[in-house]
Amino acid sequence: MHPEQIELNGHRFRRFLTRQQIAAIVERLAQQLRADYAGITPVCLIVLKGAFVFAADLLRAAGIPCRVETVRARSYGTAMHSSGRVEIQPPELPLAGADVLLIEDIVDSGLTLRELLGFLRRQQPASLRIVALLAKPSARELQPQPDYIGLEIPPLFVVGYGMDYAEHGRYLPDIYALEEPEQGNPARERTSFAVVDPSRTAE
Ligand code: 5GP
Repeated sequence: MHPEQIELNGHRFRRFLTRQQIAAIVERLAQQLRADYAGITPVCLIVLKGAFVFAADLLRAAGIPCRVETVRARSYGTAMHSSGRVEIQPPELPLAGADVLLIEDIVDSGLTLRELLGFLRRQQPASLRIVALLAKPSARELQPQPDYIGLEIPPLFVVGYGMDYAEHGRYLPDIYALEEPEQGNPARERTSFAVVDPSRTAE
């Protein structure tokens, strides 16, 4: 059993959701997907890196025949706050005409989602839905809203179950929330990687 409290990179985190609570949320989402995707073989598009654990559990719980693809979206800024810039490393699988289910770990400002949706719509999928494990209150203003949200949480910074703090903590089976007020946040510019968005470069 993992402890109530942990320390990552000099910051204290307290357990916020146990693995049993997460499993119940995932099962509820899986049931909704089973009902909505009956007879449809979607392309499940996992947003890396944070959604990889959630997606692995969700896809096995839902048990719907699907193809799996990944997309990488990286927001720049410090390890806890995005700066307003998102870069997308696109999937290899063609998405034109596909029923795309985008699998996100957490929606905060919605900036990542907005950029991803813009990119995906240009690929002209037959349908496009979003499932997010967690959403913060700021996400309520979003248009469009994720089609499926596991749990709305307060404006906390969380780690575990795939989500990181400066690449630490992804392996944790439970979800932890930052305990202390954010002070002296070790601002860390995330390193860049090549942006390849064929639909944009073709324009
Ligand atoms: P947004 O663009 O909606 O502000 O942020 C979305 C992305 O930022 C998420 O996919 C996730 O990678 C990261 N993010 C947002 N909030 C949190 C958080 O509380 N913890 C962690 N680890 N990542 C977060």
